[in-house]
Amino acid sequence: MAEEGSATNAEWFARARRVIPGGVDSPVRSFASVGGTPYTVVSGQGPYVVDAEGTRYVDLVQSYGAVLLGHAHPAVTGAVSRALRHGTTFGAPTPGEVLLAEAICGRVPGCEQVRLVSSGTEAAMSAVRLARGATGRDRVVKFDGCYHGHSDGLLAGGGSGVAMLGLPGSAGVSAGAVADTEVVRYNVVPQLDERVACVIVEPVAANMNLVPPAPGFLESLRAACDAVGALLIFDEVITGFRIGAGGASEWSGVTPDLWCFGKVIGGGLPVGAFGGRGAVMDELAPAGPVYQAGTLSGNPLATAAGLAVLDAVGPADYEALSARVAAFATDFESAVASGGLAARAPTVGPLVGLFLSPAASEPLSVPSDYLEARLLAGSGIYGRFFHAMLRRGVALAPGPYEVMFPGLAHDEQVLGRVVDAAAGAATEVANEVATRQG
Ligand SMILES: *Cc1c(COP(=O)(O)O)cnc(C)c1O
Repeated sequence: MAEEGSATNAEWFARARRVIPGGVDSPVRSFASVGGTPYTVVSGQGPYVVDAEGTRYVDLVQSYGAVLLGHAHPAVTGAVSRALRHGTTFGAPTPGEVLLAEAICGRVPGCEQVRLVSSGTEAAMSAVRLARGATGRDRVVKFDGCYHGHSDGLLAGGGSGVAMLGLPGSAGVSAGAVADTEVVRYNVVPQLDERVACVIVEPVAANMNLVPPAPGFLESLRAACDAVGALLIFDEVITGFRIGAGGASEWSGVTPDLWCFGKVIGGGLPVGAFGGRGAVMDELAPAGPVYQAGTLSGNPLATAAGLAVLDAVGPADYEALSARVAAFATDFESAVASGGLAARAPTVGPLVGLFLSPAASEPLSVPSDYLEARLLAGSGIYGRFFHAMLRRGVALAPGPYEVMFPGLAHDEQVLGRVVDAAAGAATEVANEVATRQG
């Protein structure tokens, strides 16, 4: 890495911008909404990443939730290097894809079959196609602020990266592509009719910061779908194998017709999956008429990495992590309050949201939909807090609509460092805000 070691973050980013649009391969990585120049990561270890200048950060991004065990975990690197020796892709069935599919179906009650793909985007896009094929209907209902990848029909009201750039959807998406997509308010059960093929939802919304489902919301959604024969799709690309082995369906007790997975199930390599009951999945080619395919789907390196992660975590690990993170979130809120800002850090399992407000004396409630989340993000305070944390060696996501992803590598000591940094960062930001107002 001699060449990498000699360049600064700014030099890397300048080179990146010459040959990569905006200098990034995914817009959420840019510092567009917080200002400044992104750090270029050269390595990661456990809860840490190290940038091109040798600065080490406690990393709460963890590849936006793709990493659960921490960076470069030996179970994952070992499994990948063992698989690597036998070849990287064949275009024929392999044992690894069978093992990963069995591991997923074995942990998620009701999910009898999965088809492996290479990203969460593909999983959601294919699940919607399958729902349309299986029902013979066209309309798709999605919730404002929920992200289901960047396919044309699902980008409307997509939260996160789309929201960060202030785009309503995207240029380049035809009116026809979204004509059958209806965007409705999260946490409100929509009116459905018999034209609706499916309702797709993040059962715990984690792309508009963290917005948990209101009590009864998912149950009522299930009933509303059943009443008109629409399929319910849980997009568990974030929640799957993160909030527990059985994901959000186990957590909520609500069973969808179709699931989308990604992130954790690839162990840091490109994997997605969509699954459901055998009868619905049988509609897929070659068994049925709904076409879906992929040259690298079920890739041996990716399935080895994913399987290593799923095998490394059991129910006790999820419970311990969730308990540790619940205590962390409480301490984090107190630390920010002690510095003079208001904060709410809601948790669902080990997912942590972060809502900030400069009005320290006013009670801050956790938003229940995208409109409320956007109002809070509009204070613009997140960017200042983000940079104040970065200067203290803690890397949060560079945008106000993401969640924190503490994982198994974030022990109490590491999380304690984050809390200390939060107290200092909040003090600094509160002083800045006071000075500007004074
Ligand atoms: C990240 C994400 C996706 C898209 O996954 P990619 O692998 O980035 O294509 C889809 N749905 C949800 C809920 C996500 O968080």
